[in-house]
Amino acid sequence: MNLDRLIADAEICVRCGLCTSVCPTYNLFHEEIQGPRGRVLLYADYAKGLVPETEKALVLEAAYDCLDCRACQSVCPNGVKPGEAALDARVALQGGKPKDTLTALALRFFHYPLLIDLANLFLVFYQRSGLQRLVRRTRILERLGLKKLAFAESLLPEKPVRLALRLTGPKRLAPETPARGRVAFFLGCVMNLVFSEASEATVKVLRAAGFEVVIPRETTCCGAPHIEEGDLLGYERLAKTNLDFYAELEADYIVTDCAACAAELKKYAEHFQADPVYGPKAERVAKRVRLFSEFLDEVGLPGDVRFPFSTTHQHACHACHAQGIKDEPERILTFATDYHPMEGSTDCCGSAGVYNLTHTETSMKILEKKMASVRATGAQVLTVENPGCLLQLDLGARKFGPRVEVKHLSQVVWEGLKGGEAPGK
Ligand code: SF4
Ligand code: SF4
Repeated sequence: MNLDRLIADAEICVRCGLCTSVCPTYNLFHEEIQGPRGRVLLYADYAKGLVPETEKALVLEAAYDCLDCRACQSVCPNGVKPGEAALDARVALQGGKPKDTLTALALRFFHYPLLIDLANLFLVFYQRSGLQRLVRRTRILERLGLKKLAFAESLLPEKPVRLALRLTGPKRLAPETPARGRVAFFLGCVMNLVFSEASEATVKVLRAAGFEVVIPRETTCCGAPHIEEGDLLGYERLAKTNLDFYAELEADYIVTDCAACAAELKKYAEHFQADPVYGPKAERVAKRVRLFSEFLDEVGLPGDVRFPFSTTHQHACHACHAQGIKDEPERILTFATDYHPMEGSTDCCGSAGVYNLTHTETSMKILEKKMASVRATGAQVLTVENPGCLLQLDLGARKFGPRVEVKHLSQVVWEGLKGGEAPGK
């Protein structure tokens, strides 16, 4: 798809290099091919047919070396989009399909919400049966040479995972104060799998703010994992399912506590722009989508929020660079907590979809630097609004320190409304 866009990006790039200063991979390797400018030029050469068949694997490798954090897009004066170009290049080089069978199987998992619920049940069992402690204490996965699996396992939080909200939550909840409207809460896949506790807090805050909350079970994955892996066909199938449902749903807002889901739901409007059926549906959906902090900043905090511990905030790339949401969570935290801004809070934490699984060494270098910035703030609680970042930062706190509590922003707001809970609870 979009080979023209790859060429256009290179044509408007004036090679100023501003983007390289914010690119995590360029800053680690100091090689042009590991930076936005070099990547954009390479993709354009490929799109123009200048890359020999034998070299195409190198273009694909360059596209996957990019974290798609889009920090470069936030600073580029000419509107070049190297992060999005990486996704276009992956789609083009793979013909809109996953790159291998294993990836295809993993992506199929996200097509079936029931499988996510079953995975949540397994995770709850894995933790509560003591199996997690045993696996970690014996280091059995490392000993068996299953390095990737051992790393994936280490990403799981130590705190008990709750049963998925899709399994336990009611479908409709009345507002707690005089009604101001109706919100449809979009259940994110990884949020539902690992962070139901945070989504419960999100729903409670929405109700406290005076909104009726509906939690549709018809929601499927937003498609972000698919488009990030070049699986255009899978992405469009999921997007259309969501659009068919949400375009007709009577709700004033569609709120999600996952930055990647919010970015993708909004992006549908651009993706289906030329589609006579799904274009108008995507427009209707996109204009009602809000990320949690964006929504709360718009409607106002639902009362006196006193969270009695100091906080700092990591801006998920899908919030600050993909949607321009930066001031909103900071305003909330400044009002509700003793907020300590972090240097480099808009720099990627190294999670980036499955980048931490595919590029573990680089990802850990990025994470170590991030945790040093967290330490410098002296904050007791670190907040973020994206499940991948929650997993990565929680690992960072265990692996590199400081041992801060890593929470979703909605948990801090909800605990603040109740008068606060000590970190660790
Ligand atoms: S900041 Fe934009 S115009 Fe400048 S080199 Fe980077 S992509 Fe090109
Ligand atoms: S999206 Fe991030 S990693 Fe990729 S080129 Fe831009 S700044 Fe670098």
